[in-house]
Amino acid sequence: MRRGSVRPQVRFVTAPVKREKSVALTYVLWLCLGGVGVHRYYNGRVGSGVAIAFLTVVGLATVGAGIGVLLFLAGAIWWLVDAFLIPGWVSRRNAGSSVRRTTTRPKVNWAAAARIMRHGPLNPRVICPHCGVQGAVHVQPVSVKTGISGGKVMGGMLTGGLSLLATGLSQARRMTEAHCGNCFSTWRF
Ligand SMILES: [Zn+2]
Repeated sequence: MRRGSVRPQVRFVTAPVKREKSVALTYVLWLCLGGVGVHRYYNGRVGSGVAIAFLTVVGLATVGAGIGVLLFLAGAIWWLVDAFLIPGWVSRRNAGSSVRRTTTRPKVNWAAAARIMRHGPLNPRVICPHCGVQGAVHVQPVSVKTGISGGKVMGGMLTGGLSLLATGLSQARRMTEAHCGNCFSTWRF
């Protein structure tokens, strides 16, 4: 009887990692072999599976010494908590494997992504005045600092630098910086 229930599970565990994981099978593994962490190995959580096995095995081995009961109880609580975590693991793992499968086809354009990081989002309506291409222009707001006049520097020095700071900041003008991803020219307006 015992042989028949354990055998097919072991076959699934050694199957290729690519196949979709099953919630039902994880619960069967949890119930029958959860004490040694097999439900965690099956979902790719080998380290924590070994930790549960450690708590169970060492706990049972040192029951006579007293501390074993605590270790075994800790493992048992962990095992019980896992029952609530299993659906989340399986759906995340299956979603992850399908994402990995689809990302092999469309190539990520890292250069375009880097331009968005550096120059802001693409504005599909803006036409580049330099090369005439539409939809390749990045637009982002920038604050442009303009020069501080000599008079303001004097005033700032006289009032102890505080007003220099205030007027210096007020000199920053809000502008829009545009960058063309086609001809790589940058301009402001
Ligand atoms: Zn251009």
